[in-house]
Amino acid sequence: MSTSKADALALIRVVPDFPNPGITFKDVTPMLKDAEAFATVVEEIASYSESYDLVAGIEARGFILAAAVAGYAGKGFVPIRKSGKLPYLTHSETYGLEYGIDTLEIHQDAVLAGERVLLLDDVLATGGTLKAASKLIQRCGGTIDAVAVLLEIPGLGGKAKFNKEFPNIAVHTVFPE
Ligand code: AMP
Repeated sequence: MSTSKADALALIRVVPDFPNPGITFKDVTPMLKDAEAFATVVEEIASYSESYDLVAGIEARGFILAAAVAGYAGKGFVPIRKSGKLPYLTHSETYGLEYGIDTLEIHQDAVLAGERVLLLDDVLATGGTLKAASKLIQRCGGTIDAVAVLLEIPGLGGKAKFNKEFPNIAVHTVFPE
């Protein structure tokens, strides 16, 4: 038996004023705890493209999705991490996000020239995080096959901002508005 997307969406908890006043935080942990809901999401994301070699996830919740999709699809996993966490040579991108500024890094050899990457995160807000992660993959020489998120924060125009900079990369949303 599998869970419908509507039932999976209903498990995502909305937490007002976290981590800062005015931010409506989308907490995916109850959905991840439900094995069938998690499986529904993983299968859907894995189907967005068939031509990827690697699944990249953005620290921290993107790791959970990307590792699960990579395992399901039989692909390798690439971590895109916050500054100072990766031990080897890195590429680095600093960017603005809905509640602050951050830096993301990738190992320089994590994606080889020509490798195709499915890039995942949990939530798309302003789009800064996904843009920075996409630039990191491209700086390695990789190609972004597609991007996927569970949810978009309405009213921030994140998808449009991303597509302005990356017009040829499809952004899939598991739970569109
Ligand atoms: P942005 O760069 O503005 O698109 O922000 C997206 C990143 O911040 C993702 O890694 C999300 O996990 C996190 N994020 C931003 N806003 C929210 C929110 N309202 N609820 C949950 N996560 C969020």
